[in-house]
Amino acid sequence: IPVDPFDLVIFGGTGDLARRKILPGLFRRFCAGQMPPEAQIIGAARSELDDEGYRDFVRDAIHEFAGPLSEDDAQIDEFLERVGYVAIDAKGEGGWEELKSRVRDDLVHAFYFSVAPALFGDIAERLHLHGLAGDESRIVVEKPFGKDLDSAKALNATLAKHFHEQQIYRIDHYLGKETVQNLMAVRFGNVLFEPLWNAQYVDHIQITVAETVGVGGRGSYYDASGAMRDMVQNHLMQLLCLIAMEPPAKFDPDAVRDEKLKVIRALEPVEPHHIVRGQYDKSANSQGYRQDVENPRSFTESFLALKLHISNWRWAGTPFYLRTGKKLKARTSEIVVVFKDAPHSIFGADAGRHRNVLAIRLQPNEGMTLDVTIKEPGPGGMRLIDVPLDMTFADALGPEAEQATEAYERLIMDVIRGNQTLFMRGDEVEAAWAWTDPIIAGWTARSDVPKPYDQGGSGPEDSMMLMHRDGRRWRELK
Ligand code: NAD
Repeated sequence: IPVDPFDLVIFGGTGDLARRKILPGLFRRFCAGQMPPEAQIIGAARSELDDEGYRDFVRDAIHEFAGPLSEDDAQIDEFLERVGYVAIDAKGEGGWEELKSRVRDDLVHAFYFSVAPALFGDIAERLHLHGLAGDESRIVVEKPFGKDLDSAKALNATLAKHFHEQQIYRIDHYLGKETVQNLMAVRFGNVLFEPLWNAQYVDHIQITVAETVGVGGRGSYYDASGAMRDMVQNHLMQLLCLIAMEPPAKFDPDAVRDEKLKVIRALEPVEPHHIVRGQYDKSANSQGYRQDVENPRSFTESFLALKLHISNWRWAGTPFYLRTGKKLKARTSEIVVVFKDAPHSIFGADAGRHRNVLAIRLQPNEGMTLDVTIKEPGPGGMRLIDVPLDMTFADALGPEAEQATEAYERLIMDVIRGNQTLFMRGDEVEAAWAWTDPIIAGWTARSDVPKPYDQGGSGPEDSMMLMHRDGRRWRELK
């Protein structure tokens, strides 16, 4: 369904994020017929380019990152007719009047702040000063949203000077993933799961976001941040909220975000022995973390595992185990719900121990599997095995699912539609930092040294121990 005609201004339109995600994503939505012919996209950044120069930049970005659609030159040309550029100085006056002359009245206006957060205030202020933004305008802001509670509050206050909360779209692209929304559909659209979704039936929940890459070119940013700030405070926290929240009364932005906020506020402080931090070691043919960030005395974690408890009626006593890390053996993001054993095995000890496990995979191969216990086929007597009911979207739903809308493009279309459900509200972000800050302060005060771990493995041994101590184990990374 096409969205309403819009003007989208991308501040930082020549940056890495615009090139890899935003522009190719917009092109894919255009090809899908979701973008009306009157839509206009304006890149606004520091480089001295004209419209033609920027169109070349966008064409290259599409060729490189838009997948199979990028071979359709006619479509690209048609898309580029909607693209323009204004050279702008976020901190000065250059370019703003030109931008004002390009942005049309009486349309949806969205301003994407794809720039360093230090510029958010300058841009917000100038949008107002030059009469570019009205009560109906929307702004989109990127992570990192602060580096602690104080900076997040300051950023919220800066934006609040010029925009209402209903106009601010804080992106966490994990929320734009197909599976994440499907998680809500599965939980709240079936009678099967919700009655079992609590401490009485769930033994524990694991959330893993594993990467095979290292810090890449982001060394100095990453070293000042670490896995807690870069991944856990935002992405893993959002996944935790969706898996643990109470059913909202309706699928409405504030109803959903109210429930997520309650989860964050119910998190217990984390015990120091429930925290494992690691740093990838050097290997025969690859540098270690400290070389990658060029800081031989770095104590920043590139791996983090945590055991958490949520103090509420539903989850009292059920642990949540979170882990994320770089240079691990697989690129995997998944949420695993491990149900308790059947209360009594009528098949005796020989039948082995069997459990229902629901694995919700965000990557690779978005989908879900539910392990159910059945009889091993054949004449071997009553032996039990676990088989997965596989709901890999590409298999179940055909090629359409394979080209599932990428997170960014779905979220941008939601901005144009004015739907904030999949965006973080200011109080959620602050609550997440309020939980994160004392944990970081704790390990800093203890002078905790991250454990080295082998590249291409599953993280430090202590992370295995965190589970083994409880008689549990991580699902294998694959
Ligand atoms: P980048 O450094 O590649 O691009 C920065 C952009 O900002 C450029 O277009 C530059 O011209 C513009 N810019 C800088 N100073 C300016 C000024 N004074 N006036 C006008 N324009 C100015 O950065 P990026 O990687 O695209 O990241 C942009 C934002 O998105 C950052 O907040 C980053 O943290 C966030 N982010 C990036 C990624 C990613 O994959 N690159 C992922 C998540 C979040």
